[in-house]
Amino acid sequence: MLVSDILNAKGNDVVTAAPHTLISEAAKILAENRIGSVLVMNGAQLAGILSERDIVRVLAAEGAACLDGPVSRIMTAKVVTCRPDQTISDVMQMMTNGRFRHVPVMAEGKLAGMISIGDVVKWRLEEAQEEVRQMAAYVTGA
Ligand code: AMP
Repeated sequence: MLVSDILNAKGNDVVTAAPHTLISEAAKILAENRIGSVLVMNGAQLAGILSERDIVRVLAAEGAACLDGPVSRIMTAKVVTCRPDQTISDVMQMMTNGRFRHVPVMAEGKLAGMISIGDVVKWRLEEAQEEVRQMAAYVTGA
């Protein structure tokens, strides 16, 4: 299964914010869209990723005053991305190694989608169910 297969099923939409977006505003964007991270875009260029964890971390360290700062202050600027032709196993490895749950998809330098850990788990579950089906068919000769 490739990244492009998941994007074909779920679409290419990615929720984004500009670097100067306030952290309080980003928290609202995450809540309203029921997502865990937002990509920070400088025009068409990927500038960083902001996760709910980044907000929790700065809130715990600095208190509510931090909410008036821009997302660029607390985002992760060095973003690990994948390509549509990579496998979901590759993406799972990236998430495990980097300890994050979101990997943006870039195609020819342009944002093409987002793979979350939820997408990866769904795929792995379907794959495991298919394996069980095939094993049962093999054993019963059906
Ligand atoms: P997450 O588990 O995705 O909510 O993010 C955990 C931490 O990793 C946060 O500090 C994020 O900013 C950062 N992060 C999330 N996704 C990525 C990514 N694809 N590349 C680099 N850092 C990331």
